[in-house]
Amino acid sequence: MTVEPGTVRPMKVDVAIIGGGIAGLSVGAWLAPHCDVVVLEAELTLGYHATGRSAAAYTECYGAETIRRLAKASREYLTTTDDLASPLPVMFVANKRNPDQIGALLDTFLPLVPSLEHLTPGEVVDRCSAFDVSGVAGGVLEPGAFEIDVHALQSGYERTIRSSGQPIIASARVERITRDTNGGWSIDAGDIQINTRVVVNAAGAWADQIAALAGVNRIGLTPLLRSVFTFNVGTESSGWPLVVDAGEQWYFKPEGPNVLGSGASELPSDPVDARAPEIDIALGIEKINTATELSIRSVLNTWAGLRTFTTDRVPVVGFEPTAPGFFWLAGQGGYGIKTSPALGEFAAALILTNSVPDSISEFGITRESLAPERLHR
Ligand SMILES: Cc1cc2nc3c(=O)[nH]c(=O)nc-3n(C[C@H](O)[C@H](O)[C@H](O)COP(=O)(O)OP(=O)(O)OC[C@H]3O[C@@H](n4cnc5c(N)ncnc54)[C@H](O)[C@@H]3O)c2cc1C
Repeated sequence: MTVEPGTVRPMKVDVAIIGGGIAGLSVGAWLAPHCDVVVLEAELTLGYHATGRSAAAYTECYGAETIRRLAKASREYLTTTDDLASPLPVMFVANKRNPDQIGALLDTFLPLVPSLEHLTPGEVVDRCSAFDVSGVAGGVLEPGAFEIDVHALQSGYERTIRSSGQPIIASARVERITRDTNGGWSIDAGDIQINTRVVVNAAGAWADQIAALAGVNRIGLTPLLRSVFTFNVGTESSGWPLVVDAGEQWYFKPEGPNVLGSGASELPSDPVDARAPEIDIALGIEKINTATELSIRSVLNTWAGLRTFTTDRVPVVGFEPTAPGFFWLAGQGGYGIKTSPALGEFAAALILTNSVPDSISEFGITRESLAPERLHR
């Protein structure tokens, strides 16, 4: 996973990628066979922050339309590479007080996901015994959703970078970014000094800080903390789908013999090593207990991570117009794992050829929909 810190210095590369989470590693994997790349990660372990803390879900029914298109564009890679995907249907559930949510979900998602199924209350209960028919208005099932092996996905990107002879350097916190005399960039990360034509800012919650270091205008990123917990339900739960509140107030899914749940919180945070606040865990438990027949009293494990959003909740991917050679790959919010194949390929193509590959544009994704210009307006 890690590389001996401080063994490579000074260096000259075509592209320096700041951040060894799923974003930095994915673009690195698409770039590494074609040019000299280095990935710089501040922590000792790759994927230590948001990437290592996700719910690992692939669904095409979550987020803005561009996100859903990016998920679709990533599907083939995720389902055909290294056993990354295990089936995990998603079931949205509406309670009796909000029956209209079912129609709204179908209206929003059916055009891109025609395989969605409308479920009666009885069919909801058949799929998940945590509900009683009397409290449920109905559900929507996404049968083609799945769980992603995030560790394997990340390791695969990492292998591609290393097998192309390109370094990934852990414990290399970028502290200084300046213009070099050739119109490129000079980066200091501890005792490593790098000259590069292109800087890729894939620093997750810290991406605005990286921009400021380089003298580039911040794009307006907000890290939002989400807590997660696991618990035991005392009944067989391994066959349950990922169950999501139709109003996005909570979700839970099988996690080995236990269940992973979240109150779907979004607490504004500084870019930090996130910890789950006890009150947030308590609120999550209360939401799930109120919506189901479960009576969670204690948790086995808790953690939290930062989901970092742009103002329109669509990632920012592209060259910064005011700073030649400074490339944004940030703001993946709660969707950065499942969209990483498409975003990695898209970002690499813009850097290498200044074009959008057909394999991405065929899903209706345009350069403009992800470009930083839209956020600077
Ligand atoms: C609770 C939770 C559930 C989620 N569920 C899902 C899900 O089901 N499906 C899905 O697709 N997505 C999900 N996500 C979102 C997903 O995890 C993120 O979108 C994704 O991991 C973001 O990846 P990243 O590489 O941009 O960020 P990160 O993984 O945070 O990586 C950024 C890296 O940059 C490094 N860095 C920062 N500053 C510097 C510096 N100065 N020098 C060097 N390195 C630096 C950091 O150390 C960090 O490792 C979830 C997230 C959370 C928190």
